[in-house]
Amino acid sequence: MADFSLNEDQLQIQKWVHDFAENVIRPAGHEWDEREEFPYPIVQQAAEIGLYGWEFLMSTFSDPTGLTLPVCIEEIFWGDAGIGMAIMGSALAAAGISGNGTPEQVMEWVPQCYGDAKDIKLGAFCVSEPDAGSDVSSLRTRAVYDEANDEWVLNGTKAWITNGGIADVHVVVAAVDPELKGRGQASFIVPPGTKGLSQGQKYMKHGIKASHTAEVVLDDVRVPGSCLLGGKEKLDAKLARARERGTSGEKQPAMATFEATRPSVGAQALGIARAAYEYSLDYAKERKAFGKPIIQHQAIAFKLANMATEIDAARLLIWRAAWLARNGGFTHGEGSMSKYKASEVAVRVTEDAIQILGGYGYTREYPVERWHRDAKIHTIFEGTSEIQQLVIARAISGMRIE
Ligand SMILES: Cc1cc2nc3c(=O)[nH]c(=O)nc-3n(C[C@H](O)[C@H](O)[C@H](O)COP(=O)(O)OP(=O)(O)OC[C@H]3O[C@@H](n4cnc5c(N)ncnc54)[C@H](O)[C@@H]3O)c2cc1C
Repeated sequence: MADFSLNEDQLQIQKWVHDFAENVIRPAGHEWDEREEFPYPIVQQAAEIGLYGWEFLMSTFSDPTGLTLPVCIEEIFWGDAGIGMAIMGSALAAAGISGNGTPEQVMEWVPQCYGDAKDIKLGAFCVSEPDAGSDVSSLRTRAVYDEANDEWVLNGTKAWITNGGIADVHVVVAAVDPELKGRGQASFIVPPGTKGLSQGQKYMKHGIKASHTAEVVLDDVRVPGSCLLGGKEKLDAKLARARERGTSGEKQPAMATFEATRPSVGAQALGIARAAYEYSLDYAKERKAFGKPIIQHQAIAFKLANMATEIDAARLLIWRAAWLARNGGFTHGEGSMSKYKASEVAVRVTEDAIQILGGYGYTREYPVERWHRDAKIHTIFEGTSEIQQLVIARAISGMRIE
């Protein structure tokens, strides 16, 4: 049975991450949002204290309650979401490797997504394409096996990739047999310095501007056979089953990764929502209008009451999903519910925070407008809100819903 009281270790880690978020991340948020550049010095500092690193990530993966990771992510994103994404971006690549690779591949490549405190490295998880975002079954990037050299040749263009082009390790999902749609896809490691991989355009974004997002162009990229995650034997067996039955019932590699990371993405949104709620609560107690603090006007007080309630509801869904992910798995779309609820709550709460701050809230001198911009991405990436609703609807009905 789930127990949502944090143990001593978790409380200590939460405080440790919160202190870093408060003293290092939060004060740097405005500057890196304005610069719209990857905040290397801050990620470096996170690596120095052990917050950016594969050992830290793996230690949270092995927590039997599943709660440590969302608890830490909430604190990081409470500090700042753009810098938070810069710190967490490599985790998606690590999750793609852990979810699809052999134990040897995990041990070889996950540490290379992080490097060490002296020399930090980055990972990128490359699925989306200009014509395939939600519809990941339609990827055009092709992977062709060159048997004579035991190499895979990758060609295609990936769109909106976090750390795309600046990463050391790119994990690329590509079609091996496009006719089999999602079931004909596989994930590949593109090692650092591989010829043919380049960065296309860097996107200028609405929010999370400190996080680098770019196209990744794959032009006759050759990787050794050992870079196929899971290995050739497993892939051949999967393709054979899919060809025989038309549908193998197996998940696409990208979808499996996204499902596992949904509570974490919810926790990101939750951190932003909590930051905006706390800030506007303090403000409402101080700011006076018509002779009294604005919180004593019921319209503002009720807004804050709703914000607090929605944030708690989102956190409970996230913690339930994170716990289930380690203890039996999802049965009716609980992972999607957590991401869907938290991201919608974050957008609404940050908008309410702007409203509570009035004119000040609309200016870049106060952080709430940035938090509102940062919150919005959470209803879009790693499965839009509509896609989460689809997943939940299919899970509760057991029926195909388009
Ligand atoms: C800042 C940022 C970072 C990103 N990082 C990464 C990354 O690291 N790796 C990666 O692979 N991708 C990444 N992405 C891509 C992201 O996952 C996609 O943008 C997202 O999945 C949506 O795909 P799309 O943009 O093609 O929208 P579309 O799929 O074209 O959707 C457009 C609209 O149609 C709706 N829609 C589509 N299909 C349906 C349906 N069946 N039913 C109902 N509504 C539907 C959507 O909900 C949405 O509202 C990132 C994107 C951004 C903006």
